[in-house]
Amino acid sequence: MDLKELYREVILDHNRSPRNFGRLEPADATAVGRNPLCGDRLDVTLRMEGDRVADVRFDGQGCAISMASASLMSEAIKGRRRDEIERLYQDVHALLTGHARGDGELGKLAALGGVAEFPARVKCASLCWHTLHAALNETRAPVSTE
Ligand code: ZN
Repeated sequence: MDLKELYREVILDHNRSPRNFGRLEPADATAVGRNPLCGDRLDVTLRMEGDRVADVRFDGQGCAISMASASLMSEAIKGRRRDEIERLYQDVHALLTGHARGDGELGKLAALGGVAEFPARVKCASLCWHTLHAALNETRAPVSTE
């Protein structure tokens, strides 16, 4: 399967049936993200166990790419330590901007590489990661890609 097919398939699948959709109540960390350019809006809630993300949910509304990316992210980060997530975040950012350093540990997230061909959608795909980053760093101010 080439990247385009993989991209289409994974985005469609995760948009149709998003994983970890909803909210954690109570949550240990939470952040709100917005991408005004497209109208995407995301809430990320986390439950921490020491340095590890024990559980994650995302909630919100947006385009297929923003929702699918958040769904993929939620699967990828569950059970991971902060430093692992930070590395993943860097790898995904490189992938989305067309500077991927090999597939590394991206797994299914590699399908997001298809976004690099559509620069206008990079902010849609990266919104959930910026929001996650804010939640992990306990930023109180809403996150905006603008
Ligand atoms: Zn979008």
